[in-house]
Amino acid sequence: AVKEDGGDGWRFFSPGQHDQDQQRLAIVNGLRTAIERNELSIRFQPIVVAESGRIVGAELLLRWNSSEGEIPPAVFIPIAEMTGVIVPIGAWVFRQACLAEADWRRRWGAEAPYVSVNVSPRQLIKESLVEEFAAILRETGADPARLLLEITETALMADVELNLRILRRLTDLGLRVAVDDFGTGYSSLAQLTRLPVAVLKIDRAFVDGLDKRPEHRAVIRAVIGLGRALGLKLVAEGVETDAQCLELRAHGCEFAQGYYFHRPLEEPAFVATLESGLRGGGLPDPALSLYF
Ligand code: C2E
Ligand code: MG
Ligand code: MG
Ligand code: MG
Repeated sequence: AVKEDGGDGWRFFSPGQHDQDQQRLAIVNGLRTAIERNELSIRFQPIVVAESGRIVGAELLLRWNSSEGEIPPAVFIPIAEMTGVIVPIGAWVFRQACLAEADWRRRWGAEAPYVSVNVSPRQLIKESLVEEFAAILRETGADPARLLLEITETALMADVELNLRILRRLTDLGLRVAVDDFGTGYSSLAQLTRLPVAVLKIDRAFVDGLDKRPEHRAVIRAVIGLGRALGLKLVAEGVETDAQCLELRAHGCEFAQGYYFHRPLEEPAFVATLESGLRGGGLPDPALSLYF
């Protein structure tokens, strides 16, 4: 079984191959029953206008409180993807996203934040994905135009023809698509322009490198220039400092997400944060939001 000796046992646990297989097996078995055992939960990380800090959206981030303790997504998501368990889990997360969208829109109307949700490449290749998402949208009454599907650049570029077909069907439902972790994969510009994407999320690694590595600054400027030229919205991930935020704004990046603004929050804290922002900041400027 999996051993956790206080703190983040996972990071410091360096098992041999056999133990590693055992650990993986324990995770896979645990994940298979995680939904029914109520072990999965969602955090909401605000996405803001970089200049004003006004919240325009939230990314849903999965958390797993397993019988062995909290296991970070960086550990269980890759295993869930490898084994395919991400497919039912991904459908569960999408349903949570739809429930949140419908609930928030009832609560805040046009001021409700949009909802960003991660979609794994394993989900995209499932034949029935589009029907499944359509059914969840119907059941929950969510507005697809206020949902953003985050797909990593690497996943998108792995099979552009296939993804193009699926993304067209998803965007036909009214859903929007964001390229997640942009800058880490190898996009051909020609391919990128063929895909129906609305948003580029600049990978945290480049934001982190802004003041440390000159070549990262060059990548950021190039990505922002590219996004703007293509008419895409830009979100910088992992913004942690005032200096990073100022520089991203100076280069023309409109939206940001990161600890400098907010950590991933439980829903009540997210709701409270948004409501105090709405009260304190007056009506949001619709021209600044992602969609309106
Ligand atoms: P991601 O989609 O790129 O999500 C952003 C990650 O960056 C989150 O990590 C978030 O907590 C973290 N982050 C945000 N701001 C900062 C910051 O200022 N500094 C630092 N150091 N980190 C920041 P998290 O929640 O651990 O998730 C990691 C990855 O796991 C996600 O990366 C995503 O690829 C995957 N993931 C999470 N939830 C889901 C899900 O529901 N489905 C799928 N398929 N993947 C998911
Ligand atoms: Mg994401
Ligand atoms: Mg990301
Ligand atoms: Mg990332």
